[in-house]
Amino acid sequence: MAYDNENIFAKILRGEIPCTKVYEDDHNLAFEDINPQAPIHVLVIPKAAYVSMDDFTSSASDAEIAGFFRAVGNVARQLELASPGYRILANIGDDGMQEVDHLHVHIFGGKKLGPMLKRDA
Ligand code: AMP
Repeated sequence: MAYDNENIFAKILRGEIPCTKVYEDDHNLAFEDINPQAPIHVLVIPKAAYVSMDDFTSSASDAEIAGFFRAVGNVARQLELASPGYRILANIGDDGMQEVDHLHVHIFGGKKLGPMLKRDA
């Protein structure tokens, strides 16, 4: 899938729509999810144009990949989640039910998060 420059996170990165920023470095940005699924729900994105974790891990440099995951850990520590614990999640593609086609990792925390996946009835 080609990267769409009009996706909502691309607009956030260009400053065209606001976000509640919690972390930024030269290559990554983290901001609060607009529809939080836990008391703490933050999204971490690379500033570069990658559609998904699949795109990122096949096309990004080792330095970009290392820097991104370092940023995820930095954000979690900044949010004081390391000790109580937290969950990270990346949705990829249709089966993963990815809604925004710019790579993002969700950080959830602030409560016991329950089972990893909803079980089929
Ligand atoms: P995903 O289903 O993994 O693609 O998740 C996309 C996430 O982006 C959802 O949790 C949305 O609530 C979140 N989201 C969509 N628009 C915005 C926005 N403008 N600011 C912050 N989060 C957003």
